[in-house]
Amino acid sequence: MIRSFFLFVLIAAAVLAAVTLAEYQGRVSVDWQGWRIDMSVGILVLLVALVVIVAVAISRFWGAIRRAPGSFLDMRRASRRDRGYKALTQGMVAVAAGDVGEARRSARKADALLDDPPLTMLLSAQAAQLGGEEAAARRYFEAMLDHPDTAFLGVRGLLMQAIKGGDKVEALRLAERAYKLRPETGWVVDQLFELQVESGLWSDANEVIASAIRRKTLPASKARRQRAAVLVEHSRVAEADGDADTAFSRAGEAHNLDPTLVPATLSLARLYKARDRASKAERLVEEAWARAPNPELAAMYGQIITNTDPLARVKKFQRLFSFRPDHPESHIALAEISLVARLWGEARKHLKAAAGKSPTARVCRLMAELDESENGDMESSRKWLARATTAAPDEAWVCGDCGAVAGAWTALCGNCGSFGSLAWKAPPRAVRLAPPDTAVRSKPVALPAGPKSGVPATTGKDTGNTKAR
Ligand SMILES: [Zn+2]
Repeated sequence: MIRSFFLFVLIAAAVLAAVTLAEYQGRVSVDWQGWRIDMSVGILVLLVALVVIVAVAISRFWGAIRRAPGSFLDMRRASRRDRGYKALTQGMVAVAAGDVGEARRSARKADALLDDPPLTMLLSAQAAQLGGEEAAARRYFEAMLDHPDTAFLGVRGLLMQAIKGGDKVEALRLAERAYKLRPETGWVVDQLFELQVESGLWSDANEVIASAIRRKTLPASKARRQRAAVLVEHSRVAEADGDADTAFSRAGEAHNLDPTLVPATLSLARLYKARDRASKAERLVEEAWARAPNPELAAMYGQIITNTDPLARVKKFQRLFSFRPDHPESHIALAEISLVARLWGEARKHLKAAAGKSPTARVCRLMAELDESENGDMESSRKWLARATTAAPDEAWVCGDCGAVAGAWTALCGNCGSFGSLAWKAPPRAVRLAPPDTAVRSKPVALPAGPKSGVPATTGKDTGNTKAR
């Protein structure tokens, strides 16, 4: 619409100019080499305009002829690039589909067509890996380290190769390098952290997880729990090395991060006691008891109390009992301390309260001890011990990944190596794997005891206790 309007204006202007020129009666004469040319001004203007138009046309034509070879080369280059990208795409698809031959062909084609090694190296490496040529893949990954654009992918490829080959030292070195390049990438943080905790590098793992919390790379609640577990292990190592100050501060940090983590409370209480601050240690255990009673806390409470008088100790445990008078563990703790103080009636009362309708194995064993100690009733004692073998298992540190029962808490499962997987809960009821002819009559057996037994609880079938890594 606007174009036609301008055209109309242009034509109108031309007509107006032609009419105006025609109205001028002036003439132009040219004398040259014995020639004489007479014409009107209008014809002259027309001739000049014609000459200008022809000159512009010739100049454009000449420019096009001069540019022609360049344009031809550009077209050829563009065509090569297009075919190169097509080969690259086909190669990626072949890798995803597991087609080794096609992947190799496409990688070679893309490499020849695209003059951009970083772009094709990853495909070449993947094609090599797909064909089982790990050494060739390794060369490509190493070459990728030289280009800033592909260095991270190169490190990733080498790291995966090291993990696959079981080379933990090399894997840790590469994970640290990947972390320097991209500290905010989730899988890098996870991988480095996993390798650090496997190697017992608790201090380094603490720094990585603290940084992940600051950068919000990991969910806050999960990262806090993980960090607390790392700090407990760091505290334990420092304590074993005689570095009491580090042990104390790490245990304190762990307890603050996750007050429900019993091993953190235990470490901190033990270290307070070692610093002659028994009352602070007592308070810590009492607070933890109010949250969730646990026999390990009761044992720590017994260690903290300095008074050796049995009755005074019972009185102390009555205070602990008062924080959760409804909980079976409170009854068991008071029963155990009453047994030591030979308060048989008190012990029996609390054991009965703890037993309810189905006493656990520990309650059965305490009943046996009570019957033997109070009345010398060996027959009843033996009955309780027999009952203990079939009773419901007591709560313990159970790995959520492989189901193994550990005698003591550790950050890494002693059976499957999983980090932070141990939780205090009732283990699945153990069942003996019966031979085929007696399968119907398979009966429950007691769970193995003892520190770090690492024996997975079975449920009558293969539970698959190895974690896929
Ligand atoms: Zn496990």
